[in-house]
Amino acid sequence: MTGAALDARVVVQRSAEFTLSVGVRAAAGETVAVMGPSGAGKSTLLAALAGFAGIDDGHIRLGDRDLVSGPGGRARAVDPAHRGIVLLGQDPRLFPHLSVSDNVAFGLRAHGTHRHAARAQAAEWLARVGLPDAGGRRPSELSGGEQQRVALARALAARPSLVLLDEPLVSLDPDTADGLRTVIRAALDCTAIVVTHAAVDALALARRLVVIEDGRVSQEGPVRDVFAAPGTPFVASLAGLDRVEGTLRGGRWEADGVRIPGAVAPGLRDGDAVVAVFPPGAVQLSAADADAAGVGGVDAGGDEARSAGAGAWSAGAGDVARSAGAGAWSAGAGDVARSAGAGAWSAGAGDVVRSAGVGDVGAGAGDVGAGAGEHAAGTWIARVRRLEPTLAGVRVHTAAPAVAVDVPLEAVAALGLEAGVAVRLRVAASAVRILPIAPAPHP
Ligand code: ADP
Repeated sequence: MTGAALDARVVVQRSAEFTLSVGVRAAAGETVAVMGPSGAGKSTLLAALAGFAGIDDGHIRLGDRDLVSGPGGRARAVDPAHRGIVLLGQDPRLFPHLSVSDNVAFGLRAHGTHRHAARAQAAEWLARVGLPDAGGRRPSELSGGEQQRVALARALAARPSLVLLDEPLVSLDPDTADGLRTVIRAALDCTAIVVTHAAVDALALARRLVVIEDGRVSQEGPVRDVFAAPGTPFVASLAGLDRVEGTLRGGRWEADGVRIPGAVAPGLRDGDAVVAVFPPGAVQLSAADADAAGVGGVDAGGDEARSAGAGAWSAGAGDVARSAGAGAWSAGAGDVARSAGAGAWSAGAGDVVRSAGVGDVGAGAGDVGAGAGEHAAGTWIARVRRLEPTLAGVRVHTAAPAVAVDVPLEAVAALGLEAGVAVRLRVAASAVRILPIAPAPHP
């Protein structure tokens, strides 16, 4: 392991409109993922760390070396070539006229390693990235994914203190990206910052995640914790979760007259600003008028007993298993019963409140239905804003509250889904977590 601990606070004023001001730390040998919307400042951060962009304030400390420090740090900045940092972007930038082996050996030779030793180390690194026989070839004879592996070998062969990976998988097809992801995970043996737009990369490669939005860190912490408790709409979209802001009333989330029960995070009190977080696949969608009677009591009695043909649609992930305390969510597709013949997915008997304490909230005045059922699910009417195609079907975005629902393609035709159409939504309390509006900062 060659990595050094990174401790950086980087302030870069790019323009009158945009200033990056973020702190990033990584322990020696740790891989930290950085995510953020386009224009958030991720590339600027990497450029500042690598020394290709000056910083206006802050410091960059790597191991026991101060690379840049203090206001006006530009004047005292260590040259990029002497920082012990390599930046690997989407473009492998191999030397076309050199063999693959010489490409990997290049940095070693530049630092004075003898030719034979450099060749031997290059061969070793090529084997580590899964290209043991490619040394004699030219870059142009390799696929894009193979070229990226060579670029990774070249970067790591130089034994840097810190590797910066800027979307290294973004231009590759999914299979190739998957192979390279595995290679990166196995080969990274130094401190690394990985900028990525894919949650799967953050989960696979890093233990910690820093989210940057509009030049600031909006959330950070262990990757799983960040995704489990998204602090902003952007993080919720990364995690593939619905996140709606409201107020805790009578133990339920409430906004705009809509009430959603769920597992309430400890320490929350009535009247607190909260978010309800749930997977889009856990929401059932049906025609707004499919069970007009339902407004008066379809949900009575706990688990919804829907008459055949009423047509509630969900993507099949309706029942979500929550591992207690850990905050991890996994979609359990097992408990959806297909109603014979109709081809419609409707909630089966498995759709019940299982987490203790979810149902123990006080009934508010004007609640619909009777018995325990009123707290087993949130049900409301909403208008469709837009439809978004997904691999599994369609994601239906609705307004007030802004909730996405995953439904199979058939549901679009069956329910005449389009912008403006009113639909009835239902989410079981077992799928919902009610969290503070701002996640507790991580130490
Ligand atoms: P990201 O990598 O997260 O997409 P960038 O760091 O590329 O974001 O950009 C952050 C902001 O800085 C954007 O508003 C962008 O237009 C601006 N910016 C990036 N590079 C420069 C530059 N060389 N000069 C001036 N503005 C820049």
